[in-house]
Amino acid sequence: MYRFRGIIAGAVFIMGIFAQCQKKPPIPSFDQNEAFKYLKEQCDFGPRNPNSPAHDKCEQYLFEKLSATTPICRLQHFDYYDDVLKDSLKLTNIIASYNPQSQRRLLLCAHWDSRPWADKETDSSLHNRPILGANDGASGVAILLVIAEILEERTPPFGVDIALFDGEDYGREGQTDKWLLGSQYFVKNIGGYRPLFVILLDMVGDTDLQIHKEYYSSTYASWLVDRIWKAAAIEKAEHFYPDIKHTVYDDHVPFLQSGIAAADIIDMDYKYWHTLEDTPEKCSGNSLGEVGRVILRTIFDEELALEPK
Ligand code: ZN
Repeated sequence: MYRFRGIIAGAVFIMGIFAQCQKKPPIPSFDQNEAFKYLKEQCDFGPRNPNSPAHDKCEQYLFEKLSATTPICRLQHFDYYDDVLKDSLKLTNIIASYNPQSQRRLLLCAHWDSRPWADKETDSSLHNRPILGANDGASGVAILLVIAEILEERTPPFGVDIALFDGEDYGREGQTDKWLLGSQYFVKNIGGYRPLFVILLDMVGDTDLQIHKEYYSSTYASWLVDRIWKAAAIEKAEHFYPDIKHTVYDDHVPFLQSGIAAADIIDMDYKYWHTLEDTPEKCSGNSLGEVGRVILRTIFDEELALEPK
């Protein structure tokens, strides 16, 4: 009897461990060195502003990278007529899908273009030069390339789509219609696609990382922001701060305007924003790693991911 009870107790114990394992699969680890390598590889093409040769080459590179992780990767081409240049911009969003049979989907995104104008340089003779966009462009994309490789191996409790938007950084001050060209086009042509939520990464590689809550995200998708900050707390992401600091017109806005929850993870305190100094030396693998871990926790931790709003 004793022995029998022991066997039962042992079986219950093992089943308990099994249930625990079933309930909480480990969160995949994030390779920050690889992310930093992908940041540099994008910058090696040079400034990736629309209609430049580097833009074409980087588009091909990103398409190949994502296509290597999923058979469902497509290019969404569109033109934008710039009435200042009197020329058409050839723009492309790059979109990859994972776990395509799942109806419950979420979208991770970043912009892959870099800004044609270094208009925050103090020397105005430099304002017409394109920036390298190591942080402003390449950093968010670098994290998503690493996450794409994880999604190839591991199925999260959602279907996931990754969108790399073009033409985010094309606008000049006071011309809101000329920013966010890729995400605006994507949302205009969204059809019946309704992701449960959207997470945007922009300027997430600064060595001196400071991620504050963004105003539009916190106002119109507060539950999503709370969920991401919960993930940040679990991951001990010490550069995620709890206050709302900046209001940013970024690629999450077209989604919010169409009633889709979207949060912008952005470091708007980047010293080299829209200058020629936005180079890989100002960025670090540690920062990419911190943000990458928070995003993986947000989408792979079932207790967070499946939490009701
Ligand atoms: Zn920018």
